Amino acid sequence: MTLVCDLLIQADTILTQDPDRTVIERGGIAITGDTITDIGTWDSIRPRYHAAKTLDLGRSLVMPGLVNAHTHAAMTLLRGVADDLPLMEWLTKHIFPVEQHLTSEIVELGALLACAEMTRFGTTAFCDMYLLEDATYRAVDRAGLRALGGEGIFMFPSPAYPDTNRGFEIVRELHEKWKAHPRIRQSVMPHAIYTTTPEILTRCRDIAEELTLPLHIHLAETASETRQCLETHGKRPLQYIHELGLLTPQTTLAHCVDLTDDEIALIAETGAVVAHNPESNMKLASGIADVPGMLRHGVRVSLGTDGAASNNALNMFTEMTSCALLHKVHGMDPTSAPAQVVLDMATLGGAGALHLNSVGALMPGMQADIIALDLDAPNLLPLHNPVSHAVYAATGAEVCMTMVAGEVLYNDGAYQKIDYPALVDEVRSLRDWVRSHLA
Ligand SMILES: [Zn+2]
Repeated sequence: MTLVCDLLIQADTILTQDPDRTVIERGGIAITGDTITDIGTWDSIRPRYHAAKTLDLGRSLVMPGLVNAHTHAAMTLLRGVADDLPLMEWLTKHIFPVEQHLTSEIVELGALLACAEMTRFGTTAFCDMYLLEDATYRAVDRAGLRALGGEGIFMFPSPAYPDTNRGFEIVRELHEKWKAHPRIRQSVMPHAIYTTTPEILTRCRDIAEELTLPLHIHLAETASETRQCLETHGKRPLQYIHELGLLTPQTTLAHCVDLTDDEIALIAETGAVVAHNPESNMKLASGIADVPGMLRHGVRVSLGTDGAASNNALNMFTEMTSCALLHKVHGMDPTSAPAQVVLDMATLGGAGALHLNSVGALMPGMQADIIALDLDAPNLLPLHNPVSHAVYAATGAEVCMTMVAGEVLYNDGAYQKIDYPALVDEVRSLRDWVRSHLA
């Protein structure tokens, strides 16, 4: 019997990230609508299906799109404005002053640039915390990517709201506006413990529970955050938010650099997810998260780039390389953070951080969020081990096709949804605006 599907993909090698971590040589994928309906060898898939379209990806490595578990997309506009500074000085003297003047139009443009970068370098879904988040959702909608986002909640006014009460109203409004969108989901996002109060954090928890939304917060990013938390609240950051009821399986904690062993065990016990950001932590010299310890305790760990102002790229391939190398040299142990574990963090772990169970692997029933890398690229030759190439050899520049929910967003150097030349002109013209607001 011949089955019908919308699209058949043919490729040299498919890295599925299924529970057996199956790699298929000369593979095929059948897609109907936004969903993968079948996957196997091309010889087994091809005769079974009548497809409206076929996409022959030739000598390419097909794999799940990477998931960026923590970023601030529109900060692309601030890429390179201030480097080589400690977190608090960088944030309060250089980033916050410009961000005060942000408008919805500017955030949308920065987020669209971020979407273009992520699409180009093989990221298909991301978790975003920012200001005027509605504008980021508009960019994600236009670009075709998938995102979990949230309006950053602070105890002081933001460009989006004059007071925190209004911030909470915006969370509700965004939820109403976007809840039916197939690729955009809302999360409650208190910025950090040092920019909120216990009352604000409790309210965030209550709204997340009421609307059945996940919660995302920067936590234990530096030793100075811990010191300040001890001075202000008499406890360390993790204990502080735990006592406020914020540690649940629906919570994602960004950074988690300054944790004790007991705190890592507590995260494992509560089921919260960690978003590890090695390049941002290295660049701001925030420290090194104990990822091997987290994995030993069974913590769900994902990988993120953080914003482009502290990375300075939104590239999950180079982030994977940095992650694998950092933990090896830190522990003086070359078996630490092996390639498969790091790839799991950037795919299945990311799905956990976005609280999505239909992305991160290529299997029947999963969303068709798929990327392809050109295996004729000199740095990917010859192919012995696709997992090794994905983590250690690829730079993301080899990405030749990016698809989200069955829709091709980028193919053979061309964006299918974003008008890239127009975007370039708009971003270039904004450079003077950014400069005029720098301290
Ligand atoms: Zn961040």
